[in-house]
Amino acid sequence: MSYLEGRRIEVTPNHIVDITCGVPQGSVLGPSLWNILYDGVLKQDMPLGVKLVAFADDLAVAAIGRNEEDLMRNTNQALARVASWLEENELKLAAEKTEAVLLVGRRRPRAVQFQIMGAKIEPKKVIKYLGIYIDQACTFSDHLAKTAAKAEGTISALSRIMPNIGGPGSNRRKLLAGVATSMLLYGCEVWHTALATKKNVVVLESTHRRILARVACAYRTVSTEAAQVITGVPPARLLVEERVKQRCTGMSKSMARSHTLNLWQENWQQTTKARWTRRLIPDIEKWVKRKHGEIDYHLTQALTGHGCFGTYLCRIGKILNASCWYCGEEDTPSHTLFSCSYFDPLRMDVMKKILVWPEESNLIEEMLESPEKWDVLHTFVKKIMTQKEKKERELEAGGVRSGQVRSGQVRSGPRVKFGWSSIGRLPRWRIGESLPDMGGTGEIKYPGRTKTSQDHTVTPDVVWKRGPRGFGAARFREPL
Ligand SMILES: [Zn+2]
Repeated sequence: MSYLEGRRIEVTPNHIVDITCGVPQGSVLGPSLWNILYDGVLKQDMPLGVKLVAFADDLAVAAIGRNEEDLMRNTNQALARVASWLEENELKLAAEKTEAVLLVGRRRPRAVQFQIMGAKIEPKKVIKYLGIYIDQACTFSDHLAKTAAKAEGTISALSRIMPNIGGPGSNRRKLLAGVATSMLLYGCEVWHTALATKKNVVVLESTHRRILARVACAYRTVSTEAAQVITGVPPARLLVEERVKQRCTGMSKSMARSHTLNLWQENWQQTTKARWTRRLIPDIEKWVKRKHGEIDYHLTQALTGHGCFGTYLCRIGKILNASCWYCGEEDTPSHTLFSCSYFDPLRMDVMKKILVWPEESNLIEEMLESPEKWDVLHTFVKKIMTQKEKKERELEAGGVRSGQVRSGQVRSGPRVKFGWSSIGRLPRWRIGESLPDMGGTGEIKYPGRTKTSQDHTVTPDVVWKRGPRGFGAARFREPL
């Protein structure tokens, strides 16, 4: 079939339409031919203060005015010229798809209305142009909120193919997560000014954190800072800065990245979060630039300290006291990995294989040295964590850790799960009442929760406190 003549569209098998104009969608020559034609509109004379910007068939009229009347006059003149050019060239304009926004900052503009081909256009508060939501005040808060919500959807979809245990390796996970990241960062050269507002930074980073937690197979309590370092992905706001530097100042990619790493390292040294991770990985660059070594569920537990460790389980209210199941000392991540004598035989194994006795100060350094050392130490961590998980399950089954409430509240009985529930269905108790069925005598207290739009998750990190409604719900769960 010829590109220029005899083209037809098959609407249904019996309904075929001859095509006399236009370029076929998806053809190689199409965009160039279209640009040759459409270039005409950009060459039209425009009133002072009006500029036309076009991308493919999307045309934007940017107009400036001293006041509302001035603006309306300028814009309408420009619109009329565009319309008549389109008509001369037998192109149709979708008036109903035409949108306007007044970029007035925080000021409240007087009523303004534009016209094109008889159709009236009322300015909106936010419009979407080439994938970016532009709002009246150019804060781009709307843009961030909307893309974050969209990225959340992608993350949920990705979570299904990236379970914490098993699933693809961390490098492949990183690749998949890149989809959500690029969605989040799209157009940041335009909206990066939004990050001057702390609220927007929080929106950006918390969405990014969820992506990274999937890559690291981390518990949802993991801090943003730890997730970033473990996965080797810089904070989203630094990624934005990096892109802006590259595209707007022409800085080279490697230069921009080394700036990012420096800033990241600075932040890492100053943050009050992720203390345990920082003790293990003080130097980000060495860790990030390694050529070998994938992370997984167990390694992430060891690196974050959020996992099967007495202190952590106690903090999230899963067990009553933090002492080690094997030796009775306080079970911190450091204790499990480096001190508990119960695991000395495993340390001995490591010693025999690579002549290294695992310690807090050398673990990561040795792992980074060679793929062999990484494997041996990774296996060492994995063995410890699996043994502890097994022990945890045994203890749970034996009913030793019953009454899943903080110390001194409920001491025995079936496992209790506390959480907010929509009032109804679940048995409820008032604050201060005892739980006779569970043999408890203390007061019931309630966990606080983070407010997220999706769920009412109880976050383990918060202090147990009286809830805003004065009611909590306690639900029995059959003993495991
Ligand atoms: Zn111990």
